[in-house]
Amino acid sequence: MIIACLDLEGVLIPEIWVNFAKKTGIEELKLTTRDIPDYDVLMKKRLNILDENNYKIQDIEQVISQLNPLEGAKDFLDQLRQEFQVIILSDTFYQFAMPLMKQLGYPTLFCHNLEIGADGKINHYRLRMQDQKREAVKRLKELNFKVVAAGDSYNDTTMLAEAHQGILFCPPQNVIDEFPQFPVTKNYKQLLEAFRQASEKI
Ligand SMILES: [Mg+2]
Repeated sequence: MIIACLDLEGVLIPEIWVNFAKKTGIEELKLTTRDIPDYDVLMKKRLNILDENNYKIQDIEQVISQLNPLEGAKDFLDQLRQEFQVIILSDTFYQFAMPLMKQLGYPTLFCHNLEIGADGKINHYRLRMQDQKREAVKRLKELNFKVVAAGDSYNDTTMLAEAHQGILFCPPQNVIDEFPQFPVTKNYKQLLEAFRQASEKI
């Protein structure tokens, strides 16, 4: 049995922070790791902005619940789950992702956690571990699974390299240029085909 590891944002759902910024009109929340490379600095800034605007977890869940998976994502995922054991490996937080997971039929998701106070205020964020995507693939391999992984961005490349086969999905040009070893797919049909081809090779 082969395990398919999938990134979440940019592969099955839109970028949560960017869309949350759009919905709330808070421009500063559009900043990503491309603007502030230090994830810790970026997350502290985001949590400060939420606090300043008095956003509690309930408000955020409400905004996020209005977002939808990318077009065709549910059908793609349903098909992939018929052919592989699928695990989604993401750097988002359960509290943000769950409303969207509902729309995807609750697939298995490994991601991070927010620390939330009794009043619903987000006090801090807790990463499962550094580089959890790669570590998860490594441990699946230790369980004697073959792993094919797909993602769209920099934070996926260590996972893609650790897997028996990595696949890029709709990546930005700089990622394509820097990681020519991974095949590039541009729609769900191509991605499904790439998973099937990889599973025959490994
Ligand atoms: Mg992504």
